[in-house]
Amino acid sequence: MARAFNFSAGPAGLPEAVLRQARDELLEWGDERASVMELSHRGKAFMQMAAQAEQDLRDLLAIPDGYQVLFLQGGATQHFSQIPMNLALPGQSADYVVTGTWSQKAMQEGRFFVQAHQAVSAEADGYRTIPAQAQWQLREDAAFVHIASNETIHGLEFRDAPDTGAVPLVADMSSNILSRPIEVSRYGVIYAGAQKNIGPAGLVILIVREDLLARSAGRLPRIFDYAAHAEQRSLLNTPPTFAWYLAGLVFQWLKSEGGLEAMARHNDRKAAELYAAIDGSGGYYSNAIDPSVRSRMNVPFSLHDAALDALFLQESHEVGLLALKGHRLLGGMRASIYNAMPLEGVRALTAFMQDFARRHG
Ligand code: PMP
Repeated sequence: MARAFNFSAGPAGLPEAVLRQARDELLEWGDERASVMELSHRGKAFMQMAAQAEQDLRDLLAIPDGYQVLFLQGGATQHFSQIPMNLALPGQSADYVVTGTWSQKAMQEGRFFVQAHQAVSAEADGYRTIPAQAQWQLREDAAFVHIASNETIHGLEFRDAPDTGAVPLVADMSSNILSRPIEVSRYGVIYAGAQKNIGPAGLVILIVREDLLARSAGRLPRIFDYAAHAEQRSLLNTPPTFAWYLAGLVFQWLKSEGGLEAMARHNDRKAAELYAAIDGSGGYYSNAIDPSVRSRMNVPFSLHDAALDALFLQESHEVGLLALKGHRLLGGMRASIYNAMPLEGVRALTAFMQDFARRHG
């Protein structure tokens, strides 16, 4: 059987070219006569690869000088707490912009290490839009402002970085990093779990403005201290070596595909075709998100009759469209269409949706 189109929200599909290369190199990597998984993270070959991966990421995102790039563990969830641990001094508060489940969780988990202030929440509206910045209650003395740049479950996405003035902006980009160019200088911290647009689970990329590293000075066990990780170039302890290697292959693949400008065009097109299929279905399918903030990565949709959900999932799976079941919080369907999803995958899905609607009208 052939590989199917995988619409999983994460761990998500990886570029097939990357998986093939990893397969070819699995037993003997370069001249090492061993697998990359079997080598010391302090050996020359691994360290060279690791440095190249960092450089490729810096090139792709045009990360300016003055930012450190860390390759860490713990999932984005651990960093919900670790970020305030590092960035907030005892007794300080931080502003959280709550636009869906993930930014809400970040606030919840942040509470252990900072007075978390909800600057705004769209929960009462069912998280269907991102409230205009004029409605946020931001505080000038906040340690940082936290956003989730893409809400993986509810399917909404910031189009641009909000302006938070002198207060550092911290963004959970787990589900849209590398999907388009961004202006890194507008952020204090960008962090992302790898398992959607970067590589396998087990790795977190954290990009941090250097001056913020001073805030943790000597207050934390080293394993929690971003400054210590930066000093050791993310080799303070054993990093997730295979995930780092695979992320490096994904960065090279992104470069070979034309970088983030090309990725943005590719992702815009896929999302436009999928939303057009939903909106043009005469109500058979629907997506309730404010069109101006609809996610280009995660597209939740419902069938007009939830009694058809199980059949939709069964039939779609049979024709090689995997993991379309919506998140348990919302039910319905969700198609995640990260960088690695080809346009043909989206077209196979929209064709299936039209056919399903015709047959079960
Ligand atoms: N933030 C966002 C936006 C996510 O989508 C997820 C996972 N789906 C997380 C955080 C949590 O990531 P992890 O499971 O790696 O801790």
